Amino acid sequence: MQNKTRLNATDKLHVMFLSLLVISCLSLTLIFVLVPTTALSREAQTTDHCPTLSQRPFLLIKIAEGTYVRKGLHQIFNKQNLAAIANIGFVIGEKSIAVIDTGGSFCDGHRLLTAIRKISQKPVSHVINTHTHPDHVFGNAAFQPEQPEYVGHHNLKRALANRGMLYLENLKRIMGEDQLTGTKIVLPTLEVQTTTTIDLGNRKLILKAYDTAHTDHDLTVFDPDNKIIWTGDLLFVEHIPVIDGSILGWQQRMEELKKIPATMVVPGHGGPFLLWPKALENQQHYLEQMTRDLREIIKEGGTMLEAQQQAGKSEKSAWQLFEEFNARNAAAGFAELEWE
Ligand SMILES: [Zn+2]
Repeated sequence: MQNKTRLNATDKLHVMFLSLLVISCLSLTLIFVLVPTTALSREAQTTDHCPTLSQRPFLLIKIAEGTYVRKGLHQIFNKQNLAAIANIGFVIGEKSIAVIDTGGSFCDGHRLLTAIRKISQKPVSHVINTHTHPDHVFGNAAFQPEQPEYVGHHNLKRALANRGMLYLENLKRIMGEDQLTGTKIVLPTLEVQTTTTIDLGNRKLILKAYDTAHTDHDLTVFDPDNKIIWTGDLLFVEHIPVIDGSILGWQQRMEELKKIPATMVVPGHGGPFLLWPKALENQQHYLEQMTRDLREIIKEGGTMLEAQQQAGKSEKSAWQLFEEFNARNAAAGFAELEWE
């Protein structure tokens, strides 16, 4: 009996100790779980280093009711441009706003958010990233105070995790640290497997994830009310296409794209508001010509170096930034077609 009583007392002590331990662990877990999602993410990033909209104009074009786009510059990253290279924009519903790509730096994204706030005070419920390239996703952090869903292709998280830090280091080296202050990798919180519809309040957007084309994680946004398709970099206009996925896959996906019942398109670069599907024609011509040239060079036993010097050359006058990207495209296409 005595033994049992002593054991019971010890047990009680153990129970008290364990309860205290569990309570403290729970509190610590709560602090760790809650702080990053509320307090920290609401904490305002400094924006002093970002040029204001009056210091440097931010030209928004209204393309339909509640639909706006900012056209990107046809430039490579440099020490002045804030990586404001991609077409980015937003759609306003009755309840909330969806942003489609956030630009190439925290400041590019912050300037987009500032421009949005001149038009609407509704919350930004969704930040949609069409793919992982820095000019499309590096403005993501500017929207964290809005606590949106970050939406992307189901392969986007992997691509950002693999390449994001490398992209950021490269951009810092090219553009200087100052222009990239506040720029962070922000991963998707909502992944699109095949097709997902989001509703901004009487305003639906249909998001579609593609098999490998421009990259292995391209996503389009279709606005059925206005018949507008936002293609991300599945479509380049004026700016030479950049192959980071599959030259053949891209041509196949373009056949799928043509079936989307849109009448107008916002491409990832160029335009920014063009007739659909006509706007696909120049890119299709470039990819077909590049494929023909590469197959010819490979058939003749040519090397990758020869491919980089020759393939796609007849397209030179049709594209901006041809010298910057054509040889790279030839190399990517050569590696893909060499073994077919
Ligand atoms: Zn791009």
